[in-house]
Amino acid sequence: MKQQNFINGKWLTGEGYKRDIINPSTEEILETVYEASSKQVNQAVDAAQAAFDQGIWNSDPLLRAKTLQKIADKLETQSEEFAVIETENTGKPIREARLDIEDTVGCLRYYAQLIKQQKAEEITQWDGSISQVRNVPIGVCALIVPWNFPLLLGMWKIAPALAAGNTIVFKPSEVTPLSMIKMTEIIDESGMPEGVFNLLLGDGKAVGEKLVIHQNVSKISFTGGTETGKAINEQCSRTFKRVSLELGGKSPLLIFDDAELNLAVEWAIFGAFFNQGEVCVASSRILVEEKIYPALLEKLVEMTKNISLGDPLLDDTEMGPLVSENHLKKVESYIQTGLKEGATLVTGGKRIKEKGYYMTPVIVTDVTSEMDIVQEEVFGPFCVIQTFKTEAEAISLANGTKFGLAAGVLSADVVRAERVAARIQAGTIWINSYHTPFVNAPWGGFKQSGLGRELGPQGLASYSEPKHINVTQ
Ligand code: NAD
Repeated sequence: MKQQNFINGKWLTGEGYKRDIINPSTEEILETVYEASSKQVNQAVDAAQAAFDQGIWNSDPLLRAKTLQKIADKLETQSEEFAVIETENTGKPIREARLDIEDTVGCLRYYAQLIKQQKAEEITQWDGSISQVRNVPIGVCALIVPWNFPLLLGMWKIAPALAAGNTIVFKPSEVTPLSMIKMTEIIDESGMPEGVFNLLLGDGKAVGEKLVIHQNVSKISFTGGTETGKAINEQCSRTFKRVSLELGGKSPLLIFDDAELNLAVEWAIFGAFFNQGEVCVASSRILVEEKIYPALLEKLVEMTKNISLGDPLLDDTEMGPLVSENHLKKVESYIQTGLKEGATLVTGGKRIKEKGYYMTPVIVTDVTSEMDIVQEEVFGPFCVIQTFKTEAEAISLANGTKFGLAAGVLSADVVRAERVAARIQAGTIWINSYHTPFVNAPWGGFKQSGLGRELGPQGLASYSEPKHINVTQ
């Protein structure tokens, strides 16, 4: 089917670029998509603006809650179909894709509930007047996401933006649009008023930039690379367009000598290699207390070599291929960078099949903080190991990059772990675990990892403007 863009309640064939969507496991074409033209970008924004002005959606929180709930229920009944689409398009193991769909359903349900609880605040002022303070929607929001969790990260934006009463133009990554096309079918059947949700396929230049500069787009919510985020932020600052940015990371996992060794290794592997390491919060820097370094490294390498890498559609596969050939080459180039910088490649970095973008997971040692492989986000199955002698040194290493997205602390001494966590500059810190995003708690970055927060009540607030009306009788 060629009609894959959704504008003003209608499915349309994109009049822009025609792109083959590739299965990274087999290198076969999954589908050919027809991306939106500039004219269609304008049509989608116009439709979203008209739906906002019409006021049906933004004036009725119960309609919004009911619609989100309906979408969640429908998605849940089709969860296996979605998991397969996500696995075929991204290469992620099916068991991880199933978790993504579960979390996507949970996100819809959370915001359906939260919006029902929102109330205006009333303050009686010193002069007898009444101040009403309420959160109102912003207007047309353009939502732009990357390829690593196409559906889940999409819903982290769509659910709160819709719950808050905005209308939307959504752009998936050009590499992984398939699950969101399917999702839009469910949205279409939900009875949402025409123009509230619009889907545009396309890349950053042809569609993303056009949305960012469009004068009727009131807010950009972007998840992606830090350099792209900088360009978007500069553009939005010209008109004070509201902007939320979820960007890159180089997150540290600190392992103290009292951590249980086997468990610590399991968390390190999960932290660094979950979703092929293509995760913004991946624990791509493992910081280990010197005393346990030899034992930990030995175990880590042994268990990393045992990771089952292969067909992501099989239930027991633990790691699939990287998302694309370009991305595989980028990750491989960091191995060369590391070797030139004097680091040691302990394991990994091998292609294992003729077809598919598979690479064995990489562990690199003998690194120093100045090296590019310690400072830059690789966004693949690639982790560097550093050691520390004291708590102060661990904190200093942890904070020693431009990023501040997440961190982990493993220690039997939770008081110490909390003391350390208090000094780490990161938006999310897990003590004695890693990776779980909790839908009711904020998610986002310090420093160059972003601006603003998703999830939780903060996520909803980021799609609203507080409005104060003062009434004198
Ligand atoms: P990217 O920045 O290249 O692209 C992200 C999205 O933005 C895509 O849809 C792309 O088409 C679009 N885009 C590109 N240039 C644009 C522009 N100038 N204007 C508007 N849109 C534009 O990132 P990617 O390679 O798709 O994803 C990887 C990056 O995403 C990593 O850096 C990763 O850390 C980050 N990420 C962050 C989070 C988080 O929650 N902080 C989550 C996942 C991924």
